[in-house]
Amino acid sequence: MIIAIDGPSGAGKSTVAKAVAVKLGFSCLDTGAMYRSVAWQAQQNGVALDDDAALGEIARTYDIEFGHDAGDPLPKRVYIGGSEVTQAIRTAEIDKAVSPVSAAPSVREALVDQQRRIGNAGDYVVEGRDIGTTVFPNAEVKVFLTASFEERARRRVLQNAQRGVGSTDYEEVLADLRRRDEADSSRATSPLRPADDAVMLDSTEFSQEEVVEKICALAQAIR
Ligand code: C5P
Repeated sequence: MIIAIDGPSGAGKSTVAKAVAVKLGFSCLDTGAMYRSVAWQAQQNGVALDDDAALGEIARTYDIEFGHDAGDPLPKRVYIGGSEVTQAIRTAEIDKAVSPVSAAPSVREALVDQQRRIGNAGDYVVEGRDIGTTVFPNAEVKVFLTASFEERARRRVLQNAQRGVGSTDYEEVLADLRRRDEADSSRATSPLRPADDAVMLDSTEFSQEEVVEKICALAQAIR
């Protein structure tokens, strides 16, 4: 079974996706980490962020892997081409670089292929922007998770502080969320939008536990 969780930055997708995966015994795939890893590798290689061919080459040739601790179903580390980038992909610099990289059609093509291969191997909660519309249009459960801008910025500041990486300046984070929403929603290839059959959940209205319960109930109803 695939549970697709889409939505804008900071809506709480990662936290909710992990909690749902743990409750249901599913694996979890963070597709944003894959786009971030390609952006990081592009910076290492000095590739221009508008060079579709060179970005696509990176996405096709560098392996992206997730590392697990023994007995833990949730991935704890991210690697690209063998380099660990778990922290490095969460910086404000990568927040900026990832939008043009994820708008490159050749990058999307390569990463969507990999995401389908991973997801088709088992029961997965997959989170991103285009999971219910493009990557898994036949996902059994589709959720589009939103929250107010202010709430999303507040959560992202907290998350960055906990991780010890990324901006903890509320105004800077708010401006970055607005900029990324605009870029993600207006790009030509797989823009951020809810699938027609997605269940809309506003996490400003519900606690995180309630959102997790609602998604688990949707999955259990069709099992
Ligand atoms: O989810 P996260 O904020 O880590 O995603 C980083 C960026 O990756 C997004 O702003 C978006 O540009 C891109 N992305 C995407 N499609 C996905 C997941 C993420 O374009 N499925």
